[in-house]
Amino acid sequence: MGKAPNCSYSIPATVKTSWTAKNPGKKFYGCAYYEHNNGGGSCGYFKWHETSGCERCDKLVRHTRNLIKKVKDLEIDVEKTKQKERRINLMLFMAIVTVIYQWLWKE
Ligand SMILES: [Zn+2]
Repeated sequence: MGKAPNCSYSIPATVKTSWTAKNPGKKFYGCAYYEHNNGGGSCGYFKWHETSGCERCDKLVRHTRNLIKKVKDLEIDVEKTKQKERRINLMLFMAIVTVIYQWLWKE
């Protein structure tokens, strides 16, 4: 781990961890004042911390990323299945309506 770079305020930036879907567990340097005033006191400094120096952490991060991707794929599958079910229900309803309609006009 190298020394933290200075932000625009000429003070060492602090290491934080990203938990966004795109970069879960990825470390980055941010302005030390980021937490103050809801980020309003920050100079906006941002830089990815490229080397974590921890192989197991990297593996875990990759694993987490894969899991998040799998969950998203599953959510898409569930949505597709729901749509298919709605279509089948509609077709079934139309078939029943057709049968009743024909039965009524047979009399
Ligand atoms: Zn700053």
